[in-house]
Amino acid sequence: MTEALAALQHVFGYDAFRGDQAAIIQQVASGGDAVVLMPTGGGKSLCYQIPALVREGTGIVVSPLIALMADQVAALEAVGIQAAFLNSTLDLEQVRKVEQDLLAGELDLLYMAPERLVLPRTVQLLQRAEAQSGLALFAIDEAHCVSQWGHDFRPDYLGLSVLAEAFPRVPRIALTATATRETHRDITERLQLGRARHFVSSFDRPGIQYRIEPKDRARDQLLRLIRAEHEGDAGIVYCMSRRGVEETARWLVDHGVAALPYHAGLDARVRQEHQERFLREDGLVVVATIAFGMGIDKPDVRFVAHLDLPKSIEGYYQETGRAGRDGLPSTAWMAYGLGDVVNQRRFIDAGEGSEQHKRSARAHLDAMLALCETVTCRRVQLLRYFGQDSQPCGNCDTCLNPPETWDASVAAQKLLSALIRLDRERGQKFGSGHVIDVLLGRESDRSRQSRHEELSVWGIGTELSEREWRTALRQLLARGIVEAEGEYGVLVPGPLAGPVLRGEQTVELAVDRRPAKTQRPRGA
Ligand code: ADP
Ligand code: ZN
Repeated sequence: MTEALAALQHVFGYDAFRGDQAAIIQQVASGGDAVVLMPTGGGKSLCYQIPALVREGTGIVVSPLIALMADQVAALEAVGIQAAFLNSTLDLEQVRKVEQDLLAGELDLLYMAPERLVLPRTVQLLQRAEAQSGLALFAIDEAHCVSQWGHDFRPDYLGLSVLAEAFPRVPRIALTATATRETHRDITERLQLGRARHFVSSFDRPGIQYRIEPKDRARDQLLRLIRAEHEGDAGIVYCMSRRGVEETARWLVDHGVAALPYHAGLDARVRQEHQERFLREDGLVVVATIAFGMGIDKPDVRFVAHLDLPKSIEGYYQETGRAGRDGLPSTAWMAYGLGDVVNQRRFIDAGEGSEQHKRSARAHLDAMLALCETVTCRRVQLLRYFGQDSQPCGNCDTCLNPPETWDASVAAQKLLSALIRLDRERGQKFGSGHVIDVLLGRESDRSRQSRHEELSVWGIGTELSEREWRTALRQLLARGIVEAEGEYGVLVPGPLAGPVLRGEQTVELAVDRRPAKTQRPRGA
């Protein structure tokens, strides 16, 4: 272990190991397998880089992030490590050079994508390398990609089981920042890591304050957040569409915030430049689709904002995890509204993919919605999703400012009755706008055409405002009491509507908190 500590200090320039690092490195350096579940920013890379240095031969790193390999290798070379990568961006001559270096035992670390590794030609190359100069280990990064259940399944990862068979003497370490029980089990089984030791770190990121507020005018809300709490701070703003990214970045610049767009539709050079500026300069805000951030290592990102609802808790956690890697206080903020719920459901329903895939996508979305609508501690809910129990944190919006709740049972019944009447008596289904019109008894061309004012449910919901109905509807959707269906997101009673209609179950809903009420004093 002294050798590992020497490498940490002299090669990487750090004083001490963090968390499970020492134990993981010990396990792999002594030839054992390991499964490592560690949150983003926890320090996974050293867990395979140091054993690769300490052991004889080359460490092979499997990673799906081809775009990052050149940067990762450059960073290693900068501290004197012999590193290289093999991927589709290299020409034939460059590939030959890397292969020669590998066989000559001149590489400490070699990065490659899974689709390349599973080629018989590559397996043969690696077998020759093992015989000639030795293989130190296989590190399988982003190992959750092997799980179909997860949000990031890549079929090529399934082929990595070949490693267990072709290289029984080479230790393998699988690493991921996803920690659901299902992914953990899939990694262990599918990568044949039956003999591995398991290292599960706490997924809590105590420095991050989680806040989710109702979407009103999301960009204004974001600007308020930046001005009140994050003036001049580095931050990442996630939007779902490229257009949303472009518009938001421009809007922020117009309002005096130094912001840059980042999405897959931009020219590669522009993307590269924006990423580099974000890493080097202080206080830049990058507005991005999820394409941004994978593997990006900037310790002082002070806030991560979501203007659109992420598709899963895994995605949300990974994206928010890019805030505050230095452990200092930071904010994970999101604005979310009724439209997000309806849109996401619609994307899933209208999308391609098998029924099983859609079911899994819906389950992921439902868990995300439950987090948005929870009236108890968000951190407790997040950690429970990753299989870890905890106490209310005192540092999330629901802890700091517990939402008021009200008995919405009658309102829910009225809404469900309206859906049922419209369907039974008129054979019609509508989206939220018109359903709320019916509840409020607001005439429109549509209502006149279909004589909705003759229905018994016409105007039965005037005790709530339109805004209150939208708030209630959003929560009822999140809880499966109402469902949005089909291409147009029309509303129908959800799987849990029955007991509510029959009065067997009461419905407690939260009163929407006003935006940006929860604030942390600066510097606290
Ligand atoms: P992950 O891959 O788990 O997201 P990284 O391996 O990129 O995390 O590490 C996150 C950051 O923490 C990096 O800047 C890394 O250099 C730093 N780091 C890792 N281990 C240590 C340590 N023992 N001491 C100090 N800094 C560390
Ligand atoms: Zn909390």
